[in-house]
Amino acid sequence: MTDPYAQFIATDLGKAVARKLGLPRPVTLRRFDPEAPLCDEPILVAGPGPMVASITHALREGHELDVVDSLDALTEETKLGALVLDLSSIREPAELETLRELGAPAVRRLGPNARVVLIGTDPDVLTDPVAIATHKGLIGATRSIAKELRAGATANIVLGPVDPGPAALVPAVEFFLSGRSAYVDGQPLRVGSTGAEFPQDPVRPLTGKVAVVTGAARGIGAAIVTTLARDGATVVGVDVPAAGDKLATVVNKVGGSALLLDITAPDAGRRILNHCRARHGALDIVVHNAGITRDKLFVNTDADRWGQVIDVNLRSIIAMNEAFLGEKGLGEGGRVVCLASQSGIAGNRGQTNYAASKAGVIGLVAATAPELASRGITINAVAPGFIETEMTARIPFATRELGRRVNSLQQGGKPVDVAEVVAFLAQPASTAITGQTLRVCGQSMMGA
Ligand code: NAD
Repeated sequence: MTDPYAQFIATDLGKAVARKLGLPRPVTLRRFDPEAPLCDEPILVAGPGPMVASITHALREGHELDVVDSLDALTEETKLGALVLDLSSIREPAELETLRELGAPAVRRLGPNARVVLIGTDPDVLTDPVAIATHKGLIGATRSIAKELRAGATANIVLGPVDPGPAALVPAVEFFLSGRSAYVDGQPLRVGSTGAEFPQDPVRPLTGKVAVVTGAARGIGAAIVTTLARDGATVVGVDVPAAGDKLATVVNKVGGSALLLDITAPDAGRRILNHCRARHGALDIVVHNAGITRDKLFVNTDADRWGQVIDVNLRSIIAMNEAFLGEKGLGEGGRVVCLASQSGIAGNRGQTNYAASKAGVIGLVAATAPELASRGITINAVAPGFIETEMTARIPFATRELGRRVNSLQQGGKPVDVAEVVAFLAQPASTAITGQTLRVCGQSMMGA
């Protein structure tokens, strides 16, 4: 679970060798620290869109950041920490020139681990084909800018409704500016307008919430437990009985509780609900994290390998959701976050069963979200790319090195990178985000 190449490249000798041979030069990513500012360097907020004033206000007043409206306000040697460009009001391709005109000089001035956050309008809520083409164009440009950035910098785009309110957009912009999104790169995030609200407690936004995390004994699940607890939640960890000791260690550290349970048990959802209510008085957040791989080429996959993966990764979620989303399940403000995978988007050699299960999760999330909207419950997925865990440590060396390196950030993500995105989607301020799958893959270039 270590990346020896990245460690070598961080040394003076490694830097020299990489520069000479043109090898990838991964840097240590800027990850979230509740004590640190959202951004150390000045932020340029500009563009013709209507959100510029609200975003500038939120960053200046809420975060006490140095926000400028033009590069002219900075000395020539000052690096930018971030560029936020609101282009949500543009409606035809000629106006994409504004992105080039305002964006290119600013991107040239970005420092290490900087952020580019574009704001567009969600093509799915537009009706005019020319306007749709324009905003699809913005998404394409974002993906390309992300591929050009270096030294840990990322570019992402927030896609809002036609008349966005600041409460819907600002938390998403803050997320992309912060270290929470360290391993999210080149991605669009769609934000609706339903019931959006500013966080009551930005430092511990999950205070008073009870969360359950399946597959919590190790890897990404353990990091999700720690991160949700850091953000204020009381956390229940679920894992198989064989993982009991590890699970106890993880949940005891954060004052949570453990429930030993195979999630494929027919009554798993009801038992989790009962445990959470009996021990902690409520259940507000469900993270369907448990997952398995049983990799083989499709032609060599037997019924057992096929069935186990579909059962754990997809059918159990559908069955548990009957309890969680039924009449006696989650209430107003409830959150469901599922772990999908890049394999579920791009497919992967040797993972037909796994890709089927994870693509199924993505479909489930998109199809369930509209049913839950009137109840104030959101359901989303995160799709990790290559994350350094025991699961990926089992991948053969050459394939593992390829997975690690072939992404815009030139490194594998850490479990905490996925956990931060889960925690963001679980926040009360994320009410306007539902039915989506957000990739946490460093803009992987393998497959789609
Ligand atoms: P992991 O194998 O390290 O941990 C998975 C945990 O789930 C284990 O503790 C395991 O005991 C538990 N689990 C498995 N079957 C269970 C069952 N039937 N009931 C209860 N618990 C069960 O995996 P990870 O790498 O931390 O992955 C976590 C999630 O993220 C999975 O859904 C995985 O598919 C997904 N994911 C991981 C990566 C990656 O690069 N590691 C990439 C994409 C997606």
